[in-house]
Amino acid sequence: MFFRGSKGEIIKDFKMFGPRVYKSSPFMEQKGFSLVITGPMGSGKTTELFRQLERIEIAGGTVMLIKPVRDDRDTGVRTHGGFEREAIALNSPEEIFDYLEPEITTIGIEEAQFFDDSICGVVRVLVAHGKRVILSGLDLDAMGRPFGPMPFLLTQAEYVMKLQAVCMSCGADASRTKRKVESKEQVMVGGMEIYEPVCTACHESWLRGEREGEL
Ligand SMILES: [Zn+2]
Repeated sequence: MFFRGSKGEIIKDFKMFGPRVYKSSPFMEQKGFSLVITGPMGSGKTTELFRQLERIEIAGGTVMLIKPVRDDRDTGVRTHGGFEREAIALNSPEEIFDYLEPEITTIGIEEAQFFDDSICGVVRVLVAHGKRVILSGLDLDAMGRPFGPMPFLLTQAEYVMKLQAVCMSCGADASRTKRKVESKEQVMVGGMEIYEPVCTACHESWLRGEREGEL
């Protein structure tokens, strides 16, 4: 493995950059971006969001975590593994700007699917001002339909991470979420007691059963 120096010379030893030179390299300049972490229930989206925020903090960045008010499961944000972080609950994405202190380099957004479409513009403004925005959210609802602003957030993102859970019916990789209790509503706030991850094939056969029930 080697790197090219500023005059195109080959540098074999990474240590030659040294911390000071490394820091002033134009490639290391702080640029804004958005990263969307998506996937079904139980795929580890929040765990991955926390991991990303931790990396930023280790690098000396300051992080703020927000979530929609409607997620009333907790005052903070907790992973299924039990890790917890303080989060600011907002009604509208624009309220981010009320809390945005100059030292904040990174904004974490949990349950992004529950925010309205204005979140897309807010993310673009933040990114254009050099902020890093790391979002997690469900890409599909229980009926397999795109969820809220997620399609737009995914397509405008610089980086996308699509995680897989484990199908609770057959053990395959799961990219969808099935609702275990009856409901016609798209939004039912709840955890694994209401929803479970399933693979596409198992989800489709469950959907056929649901539709037959509607006839
Ligand atoms: Zn399956």
